[in-house]
Amino acid sequence: MNLNDSKKDIQHILLEWFSDNGRNWIPWKLNRDGFPPAVGECISPYQIWIAEVMLQQTQLKVVIPYWEKWMKTFPDLCELEEADEQEVLLQWQGLGYYSRAKRLHQSSKLLIKLIGKEKSQYSSSWPIEIDQWISLPGIGRSTAGSIISSAFDLPTPILDGNVKRILTRLIASNRTYRQNTEKLWAFSTVLIHSVDSPRNFNQALMDLGAMVCTNQKPKCSICPLQNCCLAYIKYDPVDFPKKSMKKIIPIQQIGIGLVFNKERKLLIDQRLESSSMGGMWEFPGGKKEPQESIEQTIEREIREEIGIDIIIGEKLLSFEHMYSHKKLHFIVHLCEWKSGKPKPLASQKLCWVSPDRLYDYPFPAANTRIINELHKFLRFEDK
Ligand code: SF4
Repeated sequence: MNLNDSKKDIQHILLEWFSDNGRNWIPWKLNRDGFPPAVGECISPYQIWIAEVMLQQTQLKVVIPYWEKWMKTFPDLCELEEADEQEVLLQWQGLGYYSRAKRLHQSSKLLIKLIGKEKSQYSSSWPIEIDQWISLPGIGRSTAGSIISSAFDLPTPILDGNVKRILTRLIASNRTYRQNTEKLWAFSTVLIHSVDSPRNFNQALMDLGAMVCTNQKPKCSICPLQNCCLAYIKYDPVDFPKKSMKKIIPIQQIGIGLVFNKERKLLIDQRLESSSMGGMWEFPGGKKEPQESIEQTIEREIREEIGIDIIIGEKLLSFEHMYSHKKLHFIVHLCEWKSGKPKPLASQKLCWVSPDRLYDYPFPAANTRIINELHKFLRFEDK
């Protein structure tokens, strides 16, 4: 395919398709008056930036309520910069990949230094260069491109999962994404060059990928790009992109103890800043060793990490939770504190809290499931 010959066709087709079918209602892509912005009109880089970071690894429909809640709590950059990190994590709770929330918070301080508090209210003062955005923690080239094109309607290319898939199919490349990265970036860059509305063009690519050129069952019969798509014309589109070898995901058993003291308060600990999900709270426990029963795991972990002895009670629940690179099987027991003064030997802080205050602390998603089950159990016990 000659990219320069096809470019104008693809631009024209996609912009037309977007005006009839695109998701022009996405809340962070509306102007102050709540309408889709005009060509060249700036919209809030703050609200776009927050949304783009939330959208990394997370679907649009999941992100929308989180984004709306976030905007009520931290309506602008100054509010975010001045917030306590625990409050930021609490607002993020449930979205997963918590380092993204911490990086947003760190970035808010860097952006305030760059822009200044007063000027941060004006979109025109925000950075418009890819390198400026990439220098912020957690912002890659595609996220930076999407922020700039969405907020300022400037022609910066993007290459998220949806766009990679469409471009790979258009050229019917039989290489993996990893092997093809440079070529796909070059394609995305050529396509957006001198387009009428870069914001709408990038959004059209993302929408087509999400709604039509889907991973498993692309809806080629209704796709506006049929006539430019080599995978459709010559092959079976689902064969593209070439799949990398599937990794085997390990599964690990984790014993968790919900330790109550005599006042019926529960023991929780705050993860070390240097660990993954640092700063979040959790219930004590850890990995099961071979030859150990899960009860022995819980007793050992709590003795090693908190320095107390406990009495193991009944099992509350067990469930599996999937992370990006591993699957954990949690087995949760109700326990009673027996002896010893709790010490944070493997965490930064410990706290006894009554069960009805647990929602005041930011917990990772797997722990939220435990809290919900615990509340059901306690309500049942009270009856
Ligand atoms: Fe994707 Fe099919 Fe459209 Fe090609 S024709 S871009 S494979 S939906």
